[in-house]
Amino acid sequence: MPAPEFPVFIPFAISQHPATGPALHPASQAAHRDARIVSALERLGELMRNLTWDTGAALGLSPLQVQLLSYLHGHPPLTAASLARHFHLTKPTVSVALRGMEQKGLIKQTTSPVDGRVRDLIPTAAGRKTALKAASHLDALLPLLATLESRERDSLFNLLYQLLDAARRQGLIQVERMCATCQHYTTRKDQPYCDLLHTRLTPETHRVDCPEHEERRA
Ligand code: SF4
Repeated sequence: MPAPEFPVFIPFAISQHPATGPALHPASQAAHRDARIVSALERLGELMRNLTWDTGAALGLSPLQVQLLSYLHGHPPLTAASLARHFHLTKPTVSVALRGMEQKGLIKQTTSPVDGRVRDLIPTAAGRKTALKAASHLDALLPLLATLESRERDSLFNLLYQLLDAARRQGLIQVERMCATCQHYTTRKDQPYCDLLHTRLTPETHRVDCPEHEERRA
């Protein structure tokens, strides 16, 4: 049977810690560092959700519309299907959010110049203005990062990149434009190297949303 497209759920037997149960249970956190990591990530996720809600309330948008408009801004023409893939949502869910944005005059749909059957989503002039504000919904994290030493931020990015790549390889998330899946990602003298930008990639300069990304050919 083919794997379900959306969403992917991890069975309890896999997600729970073998010794103590769910990672978010205080007993697990008292006993296991990994459970404490999960708990810290959950709290940061809550912070990001709150920031998204607050931005949406200020702009008259739902949290999902804030995310969609942020992503539409600064990315090549996208379709409802590509947004659904990126945000791990069903197409009807995305379509409802897009319809609301269209009614507010923030986006319009045009026939793709590449494929007449495809409808590209384009922000309007008003949409681009709102998108600028929407795209800053997580900027409150920047001063928090500034409380860490520069080398600590390098390490943090490297670890987050590895975690994200592990989630991608397990099919838990789509990360379309990261170095790990790029045709231009190679090695030189055993070091990661980008043969498009002609530059060595250090752990902190890998990209997770690179405009030059080209899907690796099989
Ligand atoms: S083009 Fe971008 S994504 Fe591809 S390897 Fe170079 S830096 Fe990474």
